[in-house]
Amino acid sequence: MQYRDFTKDGKKVSLLGFGCMRFKSKNGSVDKELAFEQMYYAYENGVNYYDTAYIYHGGKSEVLLGEFIKKYDIRDKVFIADKLPGYLINKAEQIEEIYNTQLKRLDTTYIDYYLMHMLDSLEAWEKLKNLGILEFIETKKTLGEIKNIGFSFHGVEEEFIKILEDYPWDFCQIQYNYLDEHNQAGTVGLKRAYELGIGVVIMEPLRGGSLAAKAPDKVKEIFENYRKRRSPAFWGLRWVMNHKEVSVVLSGMNDLNHIKENIKAATLTTPNNMKPRELEIIEQVKQVYKSLMKVPCTGCNYCMPCPFGVAIPYVFSDYNNKYFFGKSLVTRIMYMARAVGFGVEKPSGANLCKWCGKCVPHCPQHIDIPVKLAEAHKELSNPVIMKALKIGKKFFKK
Ligand code: SF4
Ligand code: SF4
Repeated sequence: MQYRDFTKDGKKVSLLGFGCMRFKSKNGSVDKELAFEQMYYAYENGVNYYDTAYIYHGGKSEVLLGEFIKKYDIRDKVFIADKLPGYLINKAEQIEEIYNTQLKRLDTTYIDYYLMHMLDSLEAWEKLKNLGILEFIETKKTLGEIKNIGFSFHGVEEEFIKILEDYPWDFCQIQYNYLDEHNQAGTVGLKRAYELGIGVVIMEPLRGGSLAAKAPDKVKEIFENYRKRRSPAFWGLRWVMNHKEVSVVLSGMNDLNHIKENIKAATLTTPNNMKPRELEIIEQVKQVYKSLMKVPCTGCNYCMPCPFGVAIPYVFSDYNNKYFFGKSLVTRIMYMARAVGFGVEKPSGANLCKWCGKCVPHCPQHIDIPVKLAEAHKELSNPVIMKALKIGKKFFKK
């Protein structure tokens, strides 16, 4: 296992991090025995970074991680990363309440790496600041209850840089993989964080498994032509780990063979380790995905903001994902959740488009944005699910 430089406290954190959000179920709840077995295997093979969140497995992920650490008596040997769900917070006192709940669930007195979860816009960050988050962080750090502070991000590059530069963060967490070089924070965001000395954790290195088991046949064929037998997952992780700016790569692991393979990738792939032939192969794979693309949107954000609140790059990203990876229900639900404003600050779906045309001249890809938005909404939405999400949203706001 490699341990790269991460935050300024110099702690040795494993390059592979265990994402505690995809545990397998048994009889309707998390299969604890299996999860412990897999987490312990990872621990014995050098993994010491365990990432959870208030909402993972409906709060059970934090409890399970706490029990795991207690069972093996390894609190001083592992690092806990946990996240504050700012999108559920509307009153100042909720910050402390949620944090205390997390400590209780984890059965610990401190959190090593604490993140503002899905801090996807400057607006979300301003909201937390107005609710007193800066004072909260300072107090907890002084007391030693939070060791490092960071944020996770799924928004656009411009907003990422602004949030990054607005506060002396210890670390950040971004989505990054060979299909997302120019999406969300992207390579520009990754390099900026590195320049600022802010440690980077990567999430979705395989786009939720889409670049692994669900990879199109054409992609699998290209990988199979390489002289060494490697799975698409190994290729995907290797590409991310090849970047010197990356300190930790999270994987939501629930299969022992995958864990072994991920550990192998995190052991063998040192920075700038990939050969020109390997990088050529990744380029070929990217071309295949490009040919399956519905909208040539690069996520540059020049078309934004839309005066009616449409998150244009997000919509196109979801639309493309549906064609890259088949009729993925997860992609469609994520799109619909954003469209109705579930789990985010406000609704931002393609259905809000009023065809004003303001965005069109700004698009360097010459996309007929309103036409493509209408197409995307038709294919990604479902009235029954949208209605259910709207009801769920009201319930969560209570
Ligand atoms: S055309 Fe639609 S997406 Fe573009 S700016 Fe107008 S309302 Fe927004
Ligand atoms: S300007 Fe065009 S390419 Fe850029 S994010 Fe908007 S739609 Fe996509």
